[in-house]
Amino acid sequence: MINQIYIENEIKYHPRVQSILKKFKRKTPIYIDKYASVFNKKNQNFRIQKKYPSLILAKKKSGYVLKTPPDFGIGNSNNFYFSHMYNCLYDCEYCFLQGMYSSADYILFVNYEDFEDGIKEKINFLKNEKVTFFSGYDCDSLAFEKISGFVSYFLPFFKKFSNVEIELRTKSTQMDPLLKLEPVSNCIVAFSLLPTEIADKTDHKAPTIKKRINKISELASMGWKIGLRFDPLIHGENWKNIYKELFADVFKNIDKKAIHSITLGPLRFPKAMFKKILGMNPNSKLLSDVLVLRGNKISYTNEIELEMQSFCIDLLKKYSPETLFFSCKGNF
Ligand code: SF4
Repeated sequence: MINQIYIENEIKYHPRVQSILKKFKRKTPIYIDKYASVFNKKNQNFRIQKKYPSLILAKKKSGYVLKTPPDFGIGNSNNFYFSHMYNCLYDCEYCFLQGMYSSADYILFVNYEDFEDGIKEKINFLKNEKVTFFSGYDCDSLAFEKISGFVSYFLPFFKKFSNVEIELRTKSTQMDPLLKLEPVSNCIVAFSLLPTEIADKTDHKAPTIKKRINKISELASMGWKIGLRFDPLIHGENWKNIYKELFADVFKNIDKKAIHSITLGPLRFPKAMFKKILGMNPNSKLLSDVLVLRGNKISYTNEIELEMQSFCIDLLKKYSPETLFFSCKGNF
């Protein structure tokens, strides 16, 4: 449910804006000069806004494509991300977006063509190299698809460049643009997964794990490449059994040939954001758990982190070759 729609004057006649407005016929948009005047306002309450978020249609002016942190990748040495949207329909307790932005409103940058130019520039510069582009860092890649048309726009674009991969990171089960297409061989549809017992408590508003696994199974059987993202790994009572059950469930339902990569990432928060996130979720069991300060991050102790990682890797080895495993420690 969208509360209000704001539109930057500069893009008020942009065809993508016009087509989005047709989906909100009852809304009267408010025109603004710069998205920052709404999004960066002081004294906003992220938690209240999360219940009634507004949609801001804006034009991104720079920084279309950025390098990922060094530890972030799925096999290629050149890794970039791009964000056509800030904020997410879902509300995961561990989501760092709550600490990153003061507003929970959704910003959609409608100038996809400029992102495309930025991506092309990188591809041309690295033309003999393998490159992965990641979408879904500042938002979920597919959850807003019915409004944004993001995937429908970008898949045909990426299809033209066989030396690059595009990862769409999601928890959504809205796969319409993918179900309508032949699988795109350089696209990885990457799903974040947790044991049901944890996800039911942390992944607010997101599809259940069962629904996610069903959708992965469907896409895999159609021939889409699948990424499994066990990130973050979450500790707690009975964690070994519930991760064991999760992996068994995933691999019972998904054709192994479809799996492109599996990443494991520890629960981690940038130190500067953690206090803010905890302040917004004072009753969160996850955030008040055994987390410690390590360098500039808040995370489990090194012992817990290593134990979880090696336990999960040992289990995953039963189902999948280790060459598909990647660690995903980067925090953007
Ligand atoms: S799906 Fe991802 S981006 Fe959306 S709230 Fe959850 S962690 Fe954040």
